[in-house]
Amino acid sequence: MKVIILGSGTSQGIPVIGCKCETCLSKNPKDKRLRTSAYIVVDDLKILIDTSIDFRQQMLKYNVTDIDAVLFTHHHVDHILGLDDLRQINQRLNKFIDLYGNGTTIDEIKITFRYAFNKLLIRYKVVPLINLHEIENKKFKIRNVEITPIEVRHGKIKIFGYRIGNFAYITDCSKVPDSEIPKLENLDVLIVNALRRAPHPTHFNIEQAVELSQRVTPRKTYLTHMTHDINNDKTNKTLPANVELTYDGLEFNL
Ligand SMILES: [Zn+2]
Ligand SMILES: [Zn+2]
Ligand SMILES: [Zn+2]
Repeated sequence: MKVIILGSGTSQGIPVIGCKCETCLSKNPKDKRLRTSAYIVVDDLKILIDTSIDFRQQMLKYNVTDIDAVLFTHHHVDHILGLDDLRQINQRLNKFIDLYGNGTTIDEIKITFRYAFNKLLIRYKVVPLINLHEIENKKFKIRNVEITPIEVRHGKIKIFGYRIGNFAYITDCSKVPDSEIPKLENLDVLIVNALRRAPHPTHFNIEQAVELSQRVTPRKTYLTHMTHDINNDKTNKTLPANVELTYDGLEFNL
């Protein structure tokens, strides 16, 4: 299994337009953050987590040319707005792409991308060619790969993180219910969101993300979906030994 972090930034991306703060002006490539997304290859199954606003750039930058399935965490625009550019994969490889998400996410995709469900446009292949799969909070398979949704809170809404093997990916979470904690046990790698230092009503801050890591004790934890409050160099120095910030282009094998 191979994982590539395609984006590690919160909804504005870093640098923030017009901002002159230390992180936005930083020369460190790890402080340049596209919107949060990840690409996972398990055996020959190619999975994308979320079609971020920066989807097209991410595919080009990290030379990703094929996707079989997209697992959506939720429907917020930073996580879905790149969906239209799936067309290039549809057309070049002559295939539909399977999308998975909870009921709200599927409903919102139908509204936001209404044109993609027009039969004539589908026949002419001028819209993204997608199969929608509404999933519940229980294990499912894509081909022979088992996926475990993890239902977490994002403020008041319920969204999905995902576990595949000993890898779990959670973004935009503000609370993991106790009932979901067992799904995060015995992980090699946990990716979890950490927006900034200060608390936030709908996202974990650094302290809460580290707390989750210490509770479920994965071998390694990476933090993602960060604002410009988080400077890569400075913040990494303050984290526990097995916790580190993700950065765009981070790649590892499991
Ligand atoms: Zn987000
Ligand atoms: Zn800034
Ligand atoms: Zn969100």
